[in-house]
Amino acid sequence: MPKPPKDAEARRAIAPVICYPNEGLRSPPMAQYRAAREGATETGRILIAPRTARCFYVTAGSFFRISCPDGPQVGDLNLFEARNLDERFYSGKTRALHGSHIRTGDRLWSCLPYLRPMATVMEDTLDWYGVDEHGGRVHDVIGTRCDPYTHHLLSGQDYHHTCHSNLTRALADELQKPLHEAEALVHDVLNVFMCTGFTRDTGQYFMKASPARKGDYIEFFAEIDLLGALSACPGGDCGAEHSSDSAQCHPLEVTIHAPPAGSLDGWYSPSNNRYSRRHAHN
Ligand SMILES: [Zn+2]
Repeated sequence: MPKPPKDAEARRAIAPVICYPNEGLRSPPMAQYRAAREGATETGRILIAPRTARCFYVTAGSFFRISCPDGPQVGDLNLFEARNLDERFYSGKTRALHGSHIRTGDRLWSCLPYLRPMATVMEDTLDWYGVDEHGGRVHDVIGTRCDPYTHHLLSGQDYHHTCHSNLTRALADELQKPLHEAEALVHDVLNVFMCTGFTRDTGQYFMKASPARKGDYIEFFAEIDLLGALSACPGGDCGAEHSSDSAQCHPLEVTIHAPPAGSLDGWYSPSNNRYSRRHAHN
């Protein structure tokens, strides 16, 4: 290890600067969304069995709620623009804009060059959790998704019910695509209900048992037409391990709610990012 310079402490003491000050982001019209939600009617309900994934569609201006109907269960969520699968959820930029974990009022952003809100968090029954003594928080955009390749790398074993494989199968079935084409659509997820952080000493990604209980939910407003794919992680509450059949798992439920006519008057689905895309190239 190289010897620290004389001014090491002074260098360490420099105050951090927020990379992406997000005060410039237009705030979602939460009051209007909430008023629209008041009179909304349920239009769809799907149950996702443990260690499986399912797809669902949500029309722009509708709401979708992900809940734990039976007990604590982590979910891995992928989102696409319903008719353009190239536009998908961008976990990394959502993290850069809002932080490592999302909360009510935060948005899920789509990838470049679209970079627009796909969904807005309306309500989260776990908002009370905040940050715990280990630095753990809920609903992260840090993790990627459990996958069979990393599992094989670390254990030498094949396991087929990781979230990556669950999402692959669900997308292949829904879109009637061959498995390898569906697999290429799977992207870094929102880890719904997962409690995670980084260890202070080594900076390693950690998980701990989800504080979710039966009846907990997180609800979103769909800013654009969405295709969602949600996997019930084989890690269950992710309190011990994932990528195996040993954890106790529960189902997840998605319900879709359509607002009453006229309740979103004046609201428009966001357009694609307005950057000129010229990149200073002649
Ligand atoms: Zn998983």
